[in-house]
Amino acid sequence: MHKILSNNQIAQDVYLMTVEGTFEGRMGQFYMLRAWGHYPVLSRPISIYNLEPDSIQFLYKAGGEGTARFASLRPGDSIQLEGPFGNGFPEVDGKTALVGGGIGIAPLFYTARQLDKPDIYLGFRGASYMTEAFAPYASELVVRVDANLLLDVDMQKYDNIFVCGPLGMMEAAARMAEGLETKLYVSLEKRMACGIGACYGCSVRTASGNRKVCSDGPVFQAQEVAWHEKLSV
Ligand SMILES: Cc1cc2nc3c(=O)[nH]c(=O)nc-3n(C[C@H](O)[C@H](O)[C@H](O)COP(=O)(O)OP(=O)(O)OC[C@H]3O[C@@H](n4cnc5c(N)ncnc54)[C@H](O)[C@@H]3O)c2cc1C
Repeated sequence: MHKILSNNQIAQDVYLMTVEGTFEGRMGQFYMLRAWGHYPVLSRPISIYNLEPDSIQFLYKAGGEGTARFASLRPGDSIQLEGPFGNGFPEVDGKTALVGGGIGIAPLFYTARQLDKPDIYLGFRGASYMTEAFAPYASELVVRVDANLLLDVDMQKYDNIFVCGPLGMMEAAARMAEGLETKLYVSLEKRMACGIGACYGCSVRTASGNRKVCSDGPVFQAQEVAWHEKLSV
């Protein structure tokens, strides 16, 4: 168990939790979080938002039963963390852009810190949040509220683009990148149970067969994903 240092609401239903300890992780990986005993049965997958030598941060949206419990935690309370899990974003060369929609910005902050000043595009519904944190790590920062963020992204300018956001946004980005040399990577979100590849609950169809979001992903090359099947297996 690890001690929560802070757990602050930073936008409607969105919280930033800081947990004390020395943790590992690469950009785009996630932890399984749990702050209860037997019920709810499953821990919740949450991406690494930030890592410091003595703490880890998670940016999460409280909605269902588990995340609502996270939101009620106070400094000094305990939380169980398992991880890091998943493949994370790949190490890449060349000009890179990060594109995040809503809570999909969560894995992109630590990613931005690991890269050499990528261009960063952040889109929100209603109101933006955390954008000032990204600014020092961006070559160019574009923030859009209630607009189609992808219209701002000239994909041909980039060697690599990392996208995390609503499924429709990632699918639209994949369509836009078709035929370009730009490598587009998406971080997929699927309901998952174990987080370690044992239960197959988070399988998606790809060009190379069924793959598990938790252990083969969550990051996939966009053209590998069978978008027309809406990620079902
Ligand atoms: C690899 C990965 C990284 C993620 N990173 C973040 C993050 O950084 N911040 C954030 O706010 N959210 C993130 N999510 C989504 C987050 O895990 C779900 O919103 C959360 O599990 C929902 O739990 P709940 O208690 O709110 O909902 P409930 O409805 O109570 O959840 C019920 C069950 O369904 C699962 N579940 C429900 N919705 C999702 C979903 N969209 N994706 C995966 N499992 C789901 C839960 O884990 C739980 O097992 C991530 C998901 C994945 C797969």
